[in-house]
Amino acid sequence: MREDLKAMVSLFGSLSRSLEVLWVLYDKKEGARIAVRNYNLSRAKTFAEGLGLHTAVSSTSFLFDTASGYSSKAMRINTEIPSSFKFLYVSKRKRKSERMREYDEEKNHKKLGKALGYPKCCIKFFIKNHEEEEKGINDFVMPAIMNSEGSNFPWQSNFFTRYFDLPVISHLPCSFRCRKTTRIAERNIDLAKSHFPHLYNAYLSTLKSGVIYSKGRVYLFQGIREFEDNFNYTKVIASHPDDFYLKLSARNTIPKRVIEENGMRMLIFE
Ligand SMILES: [Zn+2]
Repeated sequence: MREDLKAMVSLFGSLSRSLEVLWVLYDKKEGARIAVRNYNLSRAKTFAEGLGLHTAVSSTSFLFDTASGYSSKAMRINTEIPSSFKFLYVSKRKRKSERMREYDEEKNHKKLGKALGYPKCCIKFFIKNHEEEEKGINDFVMPAIMNSEGSNFPWQSNFFTRYFDLPVISHLPCSFRCRKTTRIAERNIDLAKSHFPHLYNAYLSTLKSGVIYSKGRVYLFQGIREFEDNFNYTKVIASHPDDFYLKLSARNTIPKRVIEENGMRMLIFE
């Protein structure tokens, strides 16, 4: 199984996109929308169809704004270049894969979200915030943080692992306490538990962690322990290898004072 996943990652370009296909294949969700590079598109389509899935392809090409790390910001382009992307819609039902493409091209967020199996509350959240988010990083993290009271959250809702190509969900959660999101994440993690043990181990070592989010950048603290004046951790990984990350990785503790002084917040997933 491990080898299959490796082949999928090279074909689809990331573990995240490969998991989308697997979640549909193993009935964790009914439909998926995956960005695939034009030069890999026909092979990816054939591969998905070989698994018994139905596919549809977006009529236009896109580029992604990846300068800010993880991004859901797709920019439509009129020309087709090999390294640009098209969306591949995948489902066990033919009609569904075509419908997803139609909803997406009509920008019908509500119907597309529903077809992709996103929770109602999270679709509402997306529709409410997308205009504002589009002006910025478009990662919907700040409004989700605003909706999440407190600092300690269920580990299943640590969707920051997607910044390290290890997602547990496909959608943007309305809050870190969204029950429906937690249930979806559990279902998806279950697939790793039963079929991909090495992936499950990666989840185990990253989901229960502390996270500092700052302007599109994510610092994830593994083995985190909270003390009165500081947080200790065994390892830190970051979406951007910046100066702050270098300082953090040279030690195993961060004073709470430093976090506050920088206008940051430590989110604990436990
Ligand atoms: Zn929700």
